[in-house]
Amino acid sequence: MTRAQRSLTLWLAVALILVAFPIAAPILPLQSTVAIDIPGRFDGPSAEHWLGQDELGRDVLSRIIWGARASLIVAFGSAFFAAVIGTILGLVGGYFRGLAEILAVRSTEIIICLPPLLLALLVITILGAGIDTLIMALTILFVPKYTRVVYAATLQTGALDFVTAQESMGTHPMRILARTVLPNIFPPLLVQFSLTVASGILLESGLSFLGLGVVPPAPSWGLMIRAARAALDVQPLLLLWPSLALAGTVLLLNVICDRLQEVITPRTAERGGAAWLRRQLGLTKPEPVADDTPLLAIRDLSVAVSTERGTIGLTDTVGFTLKPGETMALVGESGSGKTLTGLATTGLLPNALKITNGSALFRDCSGTVLDLAKLTEDQFRPLRGNDISMVFQDASASLNPVHRIGDQLAEVIAEHRKLPRAEIDTLVVDLLRRVGIPDPEQRRRAYPFELSGGQRQRAMIAMAIANSPRLLIADEPTTALDPTIQAQILRLLDGLKDENRDMGMIFVTHNLAVVKEIADTVSVMYAGEVVEQGSVAEIFERPRHPYTAALLASVPESESTRLESIPGTVPRAGEMPEGCRFAPRCKHAADICASVDGLQTLADGRRTACIRWETVT
Ligand code: SF4
Repeated sequence: MTRAQRSLTLWLAVALILVAFPIAAPILPLQSTVAIDIPGRFDGPSAEHWLGQDELGRDVLSRIIWGARASLIVAFGSAFFAAVIGTILGLVGGYFRGLAEILAVRSTEIIICLPPLLLALLVITILGAGIDTLIMALTILFVPKYTRVVYAATLQTGALDFVTAQESMGTHPMRILARTVLPNIFPPLLVQFSLTVASGILLESGLSFLGLGVVPPAPSWGLMIRAARAALDVQPLLLLWPSLALAGTVLLLNVICDRLQEVITPRTAERGGAAWLRRQLGLTKPEPVADDTPLLAIRDLSVAVSTERGTIGLTDTVGFTLKPGETMALVGESGSGKTLTGLATTGLLPNALKITNGSALFRDCSGTVLDLAKLTEDQFRPLRGNDISMVFQDASASLNPVHRIGDQLAEVIAEHRKLPRAEIDTLVVDLLRRVGIPDPEQRRRAYPFELSGGQRQRAMIAMAIANSPRLLIADEPTTALDPTIQAQILRLLDGLKDENRDMGMIFVTHNLAVVKEIADTVSVMYAGEVVEQGSVAEIFERPRHPYTAALLASVPESESTRLESIPGTVPRAGEMPEGCRFAPRCKHAADICASVDGLQTLADGRRTACIRWETVT
């Protein structure tokens, strides 16, 4: 059990113990919540009334426990109904798009435009106060939040190759949604559920405080706070107990939510990624490998998706090597398999995908060679963020929006190095300065939304290099940025490479224009295969594969140059042509091209998969 799992278990146990009291309220020897005792009004804690008596002499402890029942019923009820409705709307809108998206997703956004309290007031005014109405009002409020979360996650998951593969096999869309997309979006859904429950408890108390929620004399924390406010001068403790209960519950839920996020992220990878396969194969220890390995040697790495109609290959026998200090660009169109190769190397493949063949030999900082394709999740975790780091395209989505940049950086350092806090703080400022964030002493206190897009990407890079990784995988790190910032980030990465001569970098991109500026070598991927490899100078001077040539022709060199596009599209997984996969789009295709079988090494050491390279390039 990891530290995050232990922490989550502990907090869940605390929550369960606390929740057990309101659930068991009917059988607990509690005093009546409505019995009035005028002589005992405002009496403080006593042996009979542990938390004292309220303005009508009722027992405060009983009302706190029964009030928790009302809060929990409203919060969990509304969170559950909203989760069901929002998930269905988000799934349908995100998967089918078009009219379904307008009806299911855009229409719910109208609710977001309305002030939440006003909307709840409207529903309650029409239907009357009470627990049922509260649940209904809060459900309406929460549905758009779930819809947006599920919609975004569905869009992301739906664009992955394994969903495309299932579509290509004719799997029914509802089956894909239920069996493939839903399990993959479950983690953000679970986190949203915890946040919604906390929000539900607060809203229930707020509305009850305004006299629009639970109807007296039934107890509720909101009603108790309202009554205690009026009697603050006489008995301040009356305000303390329900306020403590409310704040404590919301804090507890937020802590659980935080721990859940920590636990769920690696588990997602574990279920579908390299570790999943390791468990299936019963492999738990790294296998000993030869000692003459470069920094990274990927050999015959294949990734596949399992569907009910069989296994479909997404990448096929991918291979390349990376030396210390070298930058290799992994280039190709969307769907070529370059990102999947990066995820397979880091054990972060999504659910349903698995490595079916090959190895990824990596030399860690101690000189030990590990086969990354055979590591368990527990073995992988210490490597990530330490020996191996990744920079993703969308820094906004990769940085935690509720934590300061400096704290996130400090966490990455503290996770792998036991250092005094003061030393970590100094390192954080140094790192931010190193990646070019101005005024790092101040900016480390900024939240991600307070930084520009370029600064967020710099902060992401700072996190990636915080522990001086040996291998940095940058997955389209400049795609979402404008050209000026793009150039700055490329210069920054190049500079970092110069500072750390032992670090190897895999730069994943679809843009050959940036390759020239950053890479030493290039591996061009097409339809899940590497089709050409060579040095940047060789590839740009004379490509040995028509696909590489076509990619180069599509790079703008000057405003007057007419750009060429590559006709057709990348074939779908499971529908690959025999032999050369580029043949349907290649103007040089001939019968012999059906016999292409992998890369051939040319006299100058370059490698190409084109069987006709001598005549067509
Ligand atoms: S093998 Fe044939 S189809 Fe494939 S790239 Fe070369 S010429 Fe074109």
